[in-house]
Amino acid sequence: MFRTIDKLDVKGKRVLVRSDLNVPAKDGKVTDTTRIDRSAATLTELAAKGAKVIVLTHFGRPKGREDKYSQKLLVEPLSKAVGKPVAWADDCIGPEAETLIAAMKDGDIALLENVRFHPDEEQNGFDFAKTLAGLGDVYVNDAFSTAHRAHASTEGLARLLPAAAGRLMQAELEALGKALEHPEKPVAAIVGGAKVSTKLDLLGNLVARVDYLIIGGGMANTFLFAQGKSVGRSLCEKEMADTAREILEKAKAAKCHIVLPTDAVVAAEFAENAPSRVVSVDAVPDDMMILDAGPASAEAVIDRLGGCKTLVWNGPFGAFEIKPFDAATNAVAQWAAERTRQGRLLTVAGGGDTVSALAKAGVEDKFSYVSTAGGAFLEWLEGKELPGVAALHVKPESGGCMCAGH
Ligand code: AMP
Repeated sequence: MFRTIDKLDVKGKRVLVRSDLNVPAKDGKVTDTTRIDRSAATLTELAAKGAKVIVLTHFGRPKGREDKYSQKLLVEPLSKAVGKPVAWADDCIGPEAETLIAAMKDGDIALLENVRFHPDEEQNGFDFAKTLAGLGDVYVNDAFSTAHRAHASTEGLARLLPAAAGRLMQAELEALGKALEHPEKPVAAIVGGAKVSTKLDLLGNLVARVDYLIIGGGMANTFLFAQGKSVGRSLCEKEMADTAREILEKAKAAKCHIVLPTDAVVAAEFAENAPSRVVSVDAVPDDMMILDAGPASAEAVIDRLGGCKTLVWNGPFGAFEIKPFDAATNAVAQWAAERTRQGRLLTVAGGGDTVSALAKAGVEDKFSYVSTAGGAFLEWLEGKELPGVAALHVKPESGGCMCAGH
């Protein structure tokens, strides 16, 4: 359970908002303003309610103060996104920030310099967090994507000031809650991507929570190999075969049905438009590699999902970056998008490559929710408690909460 900004009294208050404005930039110019644009809603809502809105964020991975990581380049796109001039201070603590904030009027918005210019930010230093807290009356965390880090501006502040989730954080927590914590059943998860070894915790958590675990991508090869099949020159972590068998056992005990491909698209090389053919997973030639799930497998996945109410998705079915090995990912993604449109399936997806795979399939904005939070989304799928979210939890008796926490 976490508090939202609905329950905060912000009029005339200095509200410290932790956003994630860590956008891509080149030659001192922001090249993609998506994160800034999405963050604007919380800032403008607070400003409209009469708050003095003070934005904290990080940009890149500076080691102390490094000019190339200055956030000054964000002022212009942020001003555009919030529809008013955004004031700027060259440091997130100290006299310049204090003077700027003292001069703010209700409804003003200011951006402070990179919190990571201070090493104590990432160490969650108490004195640093306290100094930051001294600049505000209330704290709003709108940066789910950094919530897996216990830093001063993502966790420490929530312990020092009245705290609430911003609208982006709220949307993410609500979507994730509906997908795994209290989903409509049956619930399925698709886990694809390259390797089992990078998704062990995730697989372990999901088998305990979902009715169907659909495995795709390179990691499916490891499972097929663990079942005694020959996978030719496919990407395969042979040393993970025991682990794969343990996951299959764990799934059986948890009554989670594992769905593996039955046919595969194979090619002799990992290259765009490499000659390919469809084979049974029992007949993968020694000199070929599996680069996608086959059409019968995609059909079987769709059949299975037809009986489900909820789908959580991380990782593609194949090497989606190169044609024609994006076919299974596209077919399932487009079907799931249509099912979502019909209101018959809740679809939540996320994690680096998944967002680009869904964008490539043309359905990025047709799922119920696509998380761009990367590492934080994956840690949540792994069932880990995210410190930035945990710090926003409130006891039921303290009021002003809503039930959507993780
Ligand atoms: P991940 O970051 O773990 O979600 O993995 C995504 C990557 O897995 C993408 O770059 C895909 O090209 C790759 N991938 C998926 N299936 C295969 C496969 N059968 N063989 C090789 N790479 C694959």
